[in-house]
Amino acid sequence: MGEKNLKISIAHLYPKLLNLYGDIGNIITLKKRCEWRDIDVEFEEINLGDKLNQHDIYFVGGGQDKQQEEVAEELYHNKDFLTDERDRNAVFLGICGGYQLFGHYYQPHDKDRLLGISLMDAYTVAGDKRFIGNVTAQIDFLTPNTLVGFENHSGLTYLQGETKPLATVVVGNGNNGRDKTEGARFKNVFGTYLHGSFLPKNPHFADYLIELALEKRYGEKIQLSSLDDRIENETHSSLIGKAY
Ligand code: GLN
Repeated sequence: MGEKNLKISIAHLYPKLLNLYGDIGNIITLKKRCEWRDIDVEFEEINLGDKLNQHDIYFVGGGQDKQQEEVAEELYHNKDFLTDERDRNAVFLGICGGYQLFGHYYQPHDKDRLLGISLMDAYTVAGDKRFIGNVTAQIDFLTPNTLVGFENHSGLTYLQGETKPLATVVVGNGNNGRDKTEGARFKNVFGTYLHGSFLPKNPHFADYLIELALEKRYGEKIQLSSLDDRIENETHSSLIGKAY
């Protein structure tokens, strides 16, 4: 199927609250990498109180605990809808605080537990220190087999059951600074601690998400055409192995 006839719909959930370290760059990357291929993009920004409509890709950025509290309550009200979307193979990408809310809960130090929407079998508890710095992680199912980004979180995330790590930490801390895992995946739900923003520096992962979303929409695997990613790849390579 020619890319000119393809369409994809993307929802950015609660950007006014969860958009730390320019996480909106992930939306820009998804949009641009579709538009550069003449793939039609429908985009919807969802804010507190808005009704959720069906989309191919849902994105949730990161943020401080206060903003996370506001979004957690709203996401929880939409838990059944979003679970149905997960089971319809919609693609989800959560960054840091957004990722934490994809699990069962986020337990801050001295506050009430924030209930997550359990799209993944994972949970997060506040740690005693903040993990701040660059991360390099190895990802087994993509070429290049690396992901790079910037982490800033105190939350320690632990994966259970069929929820598997997205990547293995080479430099940095990742999910909890102990088990060398970074991020998570269950079905087409992905979470990562990599800010920066994440997708501009990892174009291969952006294309992977777009291909999954197209497969969900059209019911067949669609391999995207190549783009001139020299700048993106130079940026990616320049960060591999760098801690600060
Ligand atoms: N408040 C959460 C934590 O500190 C998430 C932070 C973030 O999204 N960068 O772990």
